[in-house]
Amino acid sequence: MIADIAPPALRGRLQRDVVLGPITWFRVGGAAEYLVKPIDVDDLRQFMRGLPHEIPVTVIGAASNLIVRDGGISGAVIKLGRGFSDIIVEENAIIAGAAALDITLAEHAAAVARTGLEFLSGIPGTVGGAVAMNAGAYGSDVSHILDWAEIVTRSGELIRLGVKDLGLGYRRSQVPPGAVVTQARFLTQSGDLKIIAARMQEIKASRESTQPVRARTGGSTFANPPDMKAWELIDAAGCRGLRRGDAQISELHCNFMINTGAATAADLEGLGEEVRRRVAETSGIELHWEIKRIGVPA
Ligand SMILES: Cc1cc2nc3c(=O)[nH]c(=O)nc-3n(C[C@H](O)[C@H](O)[C@H](O)COP(=O)(O)OP(=O)(O)OC[C@H]3O[C@@H](n4cnc5c(N)ncnc54)[C@H](O)[C@@H]3O)c2cc1C
Repeated sequence: MIADIAPPALRGRLQRDVVLGPITWFRVGGAAEYLVKPIDVDDLRQFMRGLPHEIPVTVIGAASNLIVRDGGISGAVIKLGRGFSDIIVEENAIIAGAAALDITLAEHAAAVARTGLEFLSGIPGTVGGAVAMNAGAYGSDVSHILDWAEIVTRSGELIRLGVKDLGLGYRRSQVPPGAVVTQARFLTQSGDLKIIAARMQEIKASRESTQPVRARTGGSTFANPPDMKAWELIDAAGCRGLRRGDAQISELHCNFMINTGAATAADLEGLGEEVRRRVAETSGIELHWEIKRIGVPA
């Protein structure tokens, strides 16, 4: 820990030693040395400019794709709040703050009969997380609809990057380390209100029947290897329902891990590694984590 180096002042909220578990989807994880909630983009820029280089920066959104390890995260953990959640509807596009939820963005688009963003309605993260992860579902992803994203760099510069400069690939981007996505512009097309609403309803029903959406989970644990489904490999390796402590491979969708009660981050990560080992043993295929694991073990 770097407790003797003080972070710069903030107009927003700066808290010391905040346990992150309760704000993650998995409900696991240790404390952030500093939890930083800037009030607006100028506050964030000022903070980044004044932040000594020795202090590492970690950004979290809705923490729906994260395991925060039990020993917590040293340095500054930045979480954007209300000042970054505006949604502005333009003629052919929508600009959304990075803290807005994907579902809120999809609902705004639907309300003005714009199509193309329906797939976001089933992804429980924020717009910032969606850009950073190139979130996708049902044959689409952020790279198909993004025009640009604005980021505040580790040194406090505000930069607008076009979709091509963001290096979006399968569940990844090249958002520079320590940079914070603050808002993004998504291109939309005119659509039929009823068809859009029906599509979103269909997505909701399909997810509820195939994924443990009400459980403490982190979504897909492993990326699908090229032309394969991670869940099929996991199933074939006999891992459906596999447990470690209160961490379990979902019976419903075996690329999802769930915290059935008092699992720790170590239980979840250990279970994931056990699945990787068994899949490699039975199929020879190496699974790669899609879930980001951040921080240090207890
Ligand atoms: C039930 C369930 C279903 C899911 N289904 C899908 C799905 O269909 N498709 C899919 O793609 N994902 C899915 N996910 C995973 C997850 O919702 C997405 O990856 C989402 O985009 C993550 O957003 P987040 O705000 O929660 O980011 P977090 O989980 O908080 O962070 C994920 C990564 O994004 C970075 N990040 C977050 N915000 C910012 C920011 N403002 N600036 C820079 N970096 C940032 C973090 O540093 C981290 O590396 C699912 C998750 C759950 C729990």
